[in-house]
Amino acid sequence: MLRGEVIAIGDELTTGQRLDTNSQWLSERLTELGVQVVFHTTVADDLIANIEVFRAASQRADVVVATGGLGPTADDLTREAMAAAAGVELVEDATALAHIENLFRSRGRGMPERNRLQAQFPRGAKPIPNPHGTAPGIEQTIGGCRLFALPGVPAEMFEMWRASVAPAIAMLQDAPRVIRHRRIKCFGVGESQLEAMLPDVIARGREPQVGITVSGATITLRITAAGANEAACFDAMAPTEKLIREQLGLLVFGEEEDELEQVVLRLLAERNQKLAVGECATNGTLSAWLAAADHSGRFLSGQFRRGEGAMREIPAVEGAAEILRERSGADYALGVGEVCEDQVVVALAHPEGVRSKSFPTLGHPSLLVPRAAKQALNMLRLHLIVGSGQQADGSEEMQSR
Ligand code: AMP
Ligand code: MG
Repeated sequence: MLRGEVIAIGDELTTGQRLDTNSQWLSERLTELGVQVVFHTTVADDLIANIEVFRAASQRADVVVATGGLGPTADDLTREAMAAAAGVELVEDATALAHIENLFRSRGRGMPERNRLQAQFPRGAKPIPNPHGTAPGIEQTIGGCRLFALPGVPAEMFEMWRASVAPAIAMLQDAPRVIRHRRIKCFGVGESQLEAMLPDVIARGREPQVGITVSGATITLRITAAGANEAACFDAMAPTEKLIREQLGLLVFGEEEDELEQVVLRLLAERNQKLAVGECATNGTLSAWLAAADHSGRFLSGQFRRGEGAMREIPAVEGAAEILRERSGADYALGVGEVCEDQVVVALAHPEGVRSKSFPTLGHPSLLVPRAAKQALNMLRLHLIVGSGQQADGSEEMQSR
């Protein structure tokens, strides 16, 4: 497999003033083309550092895509660094110079002398056309490595990637090759617990590869496969996905972009049922998520309140959920209590009664709200799938009435 490196150049990146979104975009595109990106390098506008970076990249990668540092000003050093890394001089390209001069003329101006620099290329390198900007890109070969330098301005970079770089990289592959991902979304256990349920699946070097990431208590399993085309990738992933779903059962709530609130709203829509929410510990987050995702009128009302001990005890939260269900006319009401002794109580009032569960509020405080809101949604999800009176996740739960 071709090994790739992405180089992002600019003081604005290394000082943290601007987020390097170009590397993310380029890495996604390279991966789609079947290139395994193994390095991201970010470097300041410093000539010596840039030369080192290009030299190292050309020795350890088959394909390098750089972004930034191609402008006409003194801090734009990419062309000089690439020439020095290859040990060649810069030479002027007549066609590129004519293009730059024309561009200024069409804007009714003369070309500033500085812009002449942008027509210089390392000997042996090729300009990459830039239809909407002055700075052409640079395509250069150093040893066995192909380098493509693109401007930092995202719109120019995207266009040049599509028109010139992507086709050139596709040609480097011996056989057509693409990489595709599938994401399986899970909720209800910790990351390490989930990993232990999939002993041989999350191993480095496995084909297809399965990675695990956590965000706001939602666990994402990402399956990655390479193949001659998209269909081959998905065929290769299918048995792994089946195995994961079998092992994890109801811990899996969705895939790709799915969020718990969307899944719950879909389940309610299938049953033509409605939901109301009363929340303390979650500061209105649960209502905000539901309101934003509700396209079929499933979410009836949300209440957010905070009171001295009003919703601390299990009976109080259960009672509030039942009253809310009756008053709102919803089929279900979720109540999220206040935090008490490092526990938060979630109650679900449903047509046959009410059930509740306390969850420990462990971990970083920033996780408390999203986790509690997701616990509430997950309780309703499991109730809708499995029905009342069942312990869908095998955990302990109060079954009141
Ligand atoms: P440059 O090509 O270095 O002159 O960059 C031009 C502009 O593009 C910068 O001022 C940034 O606003 C933007 N830019 C450069 N590099 C990146 C990057 N890696 N990610 C996002 N934006 C960038
Ligand atoms: Mg720059």
